[in-house]
Amino acid sequence: MSDPRRAIPSVESVIQQLRIVFDHELPHEFLADSARQSVSAARARANAGEDVSSEAVVADAMAQTQTRRHNLLKPVINATGILLHTNLGRAPLGATTIAAMTANAHYTNLEFNIVEGTRGSRHDRAGDLLAMACGAEAGLVVNNNAAAVVLVLATMARGREVVVSRGELVEIGGGFRVPEILAETGARLVEVGTTNRTRLGDYQNAVNADTAMTLKIHASNYRMIGFTEATPIAELATLEVPVVVDAGSGLLDEQTPWLHQRPDWLADEPGVRQCLEAGAHVVTFSGDKLLGGPQAGIIVGRKDLIEVIKRHPLARALRCDKVTLAGLQAVALAYLNRDVSSLPLWSMATEPLDALNERASRICSRLAGSTVVITEAAAGGGSLPGWTIPSRGVALVVDNTAQALRVLRIEHRVVALTRDSHLVCDLRSVDPSEDSRLVYALQSITNSQ
Ligand SMILES: *Cc1c(COP(=O)(O)O)cnc(C)c1O
Repeated sequence: MSDPRRAIPSVESVIQQLRIVFDHELPHEFLADSARQSVSAARARANAGEDVSSEAVVADAMAQTQTRRHNLLKPVINATGILLHTNLGRAPLGATTIAAMTANAHYTNLEFNIVEGTRGSRHDRAGDLLAMACGAEAGLVVNNNAAAVVLVLATMARGREVVVSRGELVEIGGGFRVPEILAETGARLVEVGTTNRTRLGDYQNAVNADTAMTLKIHASNYRMIGFTEATPIAELATLEVPVVVDAGSGLLDEQTPWLHQRPDWLADEPGVRQCLEAGAHVVTFSGDKLLGGPQAGIIVGRKDLIEVIKRHPLARALRCDKVTLAGLQAVALAYLNRDVSSLPLWSMATEPLDALNERASRICSRLAGSTVVITEAAAGGGSLPGWTIPSRGVALVVDNTAQALRVLRIEHRVVALTRDSHLVCDLRSVDPSEDSRLVYALQSITNSQ
């Protein structure tokens, strides 16, 4: 028998094969890496006595290259009905926001005072405008809300005590646990109350000369029902120490004009403006959840506190870039102009059922074997658990749902759902301008069966 290792092609010859298919599209290193991996895997198989063929090594390298190519960042159609899908990039940005980000991607007056011709501060625009939009004295923008919480704690509570209800010692996701973050920032956690009930008296007993703040964390990703009691911000504000609120999802204002009738799914969601009005000294929230902007963490509140937070050395490490700040400036202006059309998240979340129904019917009329179905969309992004948003979708009978989902993902970059062995596309998270592409993708699934 011949040595199986002799069938293994050289890395160079595998690269040449890959180049025939992928040249001009993918850089040499990208192809070379797949080729090297396939050749070394083949060597390992040959050393173990397995048969290997040159064709199999090339096919393996092709498959690897394809997988990596498919996994590069590229747009997808989100037909899951989950509006803030963390895996799909959370809030979709609107044309005005994207235009502002693009326009400022070259040189911009990020830290330059155009009027005086002197040095300026990157914190002067998005932070101030967002503060204005929620009625805060001042605001500051950092990389994300996790960073915002870290920065506030590091500035205000290092070496001191932070009083938190036992019902709010949560894990936010991605391993971000409130007790651990507190420890990391050098603050000492003082737990009060019980899992389900914490009263003002519990906080009162814990507050002493060493207390830096009371911290309230919004229960974004879980819900407690039954025999529960939490202490409202207004009561905490009667204590001697600052009240800091991690509002998480960042509903900027419960009275946001496009929410004239507050929907059920927002029932448990405190507005940032309302937290401040109730007496919170500092509130943090995400830029890419219910605010509907790019990834960022926003800190708003009393001017003297925000000024100190801005000067902390960590603020430099956690700052965000000009493109994000330009996007957030556009988002803040959209709120101040009461312009929901610039905020796709809110256009989608508030699209009337009639309109969704009509879109679903139109899609079904072009798609044999499909039906309009009642669906339940959700805000997502670890926000508003248990609440769903009434929605409509298109259901399609397919032979093999797993295979159909895979083809939709890879060939059409559509992320859909399955339900009772049907393929379902929820339209609430699909921009109406993407409906034609969705029809095309679904047609190709039905045609290939
Ligand atoms: C989402 C969330 C965070 C983390 O925010 P990111 O912007 O994802 O870093 C922190 N706290 C709460 C309560 C949240 O809901």
